[in-house]
Amino acid sequence: MSGQGQGNRAVCYLKPGAVEVRSIDYPALELRDGPGVAKENVGRKVPHGVILKVLASNICGSDQHMVRGRTTAPEGLVLGHEITGEVLERGPDVEFVKVGDIVSVPFNIACGRCRNCKEGQTGICLNVNPARPGAAYGYVDMGGWVGGQAEYVLVPYADFNLLRFPDKQAARERLIDLAMLADIFPTGFHGAVTAGVGVGSTVYVAGAGPVGLAAAASAQLLGAAVVFVGDLNRQRLEQARSFGCETVDLTRGEPGEQIADVLGVPEVDAAVDAVGFEARGHGRSAPEAPATVLNSLMSTVRAGGALGIPGLYVTDDPGGVDTDARTGTLKVRLGLGWAKSHRFATGQCPVMRYHRQLSMAILHDRVHIARAVNATVIGLEDAPRGYAEFDQGASRKYVLDPHGSLKGVRAA
Ligand code: NAD
Ligand code: ZN
Ligand code: ZN
Repeated sequence: MSGQGQGNRAVCYLKPGAVEVRSIDYPALELRDGPGVAKENVGRKVPHGVILKVLASNICGSDQHMVRGRTTAPEGLVLGHEITGEVLERGPDVEFVKVGDIVSVPFNIACGRCRNCKEGQTGICLNVNPARPGAAYGYVDMGGWVGGQAEYVLVPYADFNLLRFPDKQAARERLIDLAMLADIFPTGFHGAVTAGVGVGSTVYVAGAGPVGLAAAASAQLLGAAVVFVGDLNRQRLEQARSFGCETVDLTRGEPGEQIADVLGVPEVDAAVDAVGFEARGHGRSAPEAPATVLNSLMSTVRAGGALGIPGLYVTDDPGGVDTDARTGTLKVRLGLGWAKSHRFATGQCPVMRYHRQLSMAILHDRVHIARAVNATVIGLEDAPRGYAEFDQGASRKYVLDPHGSLKGVRAA
């Protein structure tokens, strides 16, 4: 059954510090004009798309950058790029996805036809965003695809993008865990993989937000011997300890000494930046200092090691601490990383590279990702509260449940 005529409620960015749940149009198989829609994308036909009933849609630290006024996101932008849904309608060019399928939507939008998609680099698809490579739902500068913190959402190139869960009953029972496949679980996993984590590795993850916790759980899944998680937020560090991580309290300064307390040496094999450009300096009440994590990781990682950098760095930051920071120009001590032959991996996580394997790890109890990130279900209309609490550092991953699909569903 189509939801046409039902309207659509969605979370919209209002102004720095504020989001609002508004009524917007029910999606069509076309990208219509609206806040943040790239001009050349207006009127773009999407016969290869499907319309989903949203079963779960998470709030992300990436959304917070916009909502804090740290990007050029326009007023009215419909938010939400972490979507799990059920297919309600499909366009005439969709061949394999069926109405009624339960699916995870990678936050990257990818055409499946360009050079980068063909090489598995779906985070930098060349055909979905006229302004730059790469697109996402509900995100500034990402093509204007309407966000999925909503009741319904359009997903283009559905056959290519969607991950279907063949056992629908099992999927519904594990929906909170599977909801992490749209972004943070693959993103954390990508951070760990690109940092070179394997059996016996020692790992430092900067940031105990949902992405950092997902990276830590991923490092454990990959066989790491010791996983440290560092943050300035006590409650979030406790969450990391709840599933067996060591923690580094960065209000006490650089991580080296606390790492040495456990390992006997102040360095690790691999590190993940799960913080990004809004990083705070280390020590008590240190101000924001955007290069802190990158410099700290180069000091902490052994010579020959690698840094996975899912933490977001921007090209324009109206709230940057100085003129350089306002264009994403940071004081990174590259000489140190060069001297240690470090490798760096940046950019959007190509979710599709990992989501199938990680879904199997969830469905067959190899990992408890929703528990690790303390997934917390709230209603769509409660989104403003979720955003506010998350912004204040609550150790929770908020999952919006627009249709009550998560009632009775527990974290595995
Ligand atoms: P979050 O804001 O909840 O978490 C960031 C954490 O970093 C906070 O707990 C904060 O206290 C902590 N922090 C601040 N300064 C620090 C420092 N110097 N050292 C250690 N910790 C510090 O965000 P999140 O949802 O966990 O996302 C983390 C980052 O990952 C964000 O920048 C987000 O945009 C990015 N992200 C990237 C991708 C991708 O594909 N690359 C995907 C999702 C999220
Ligand atoms: Zn996200
Ligand atoms: Zn492409």
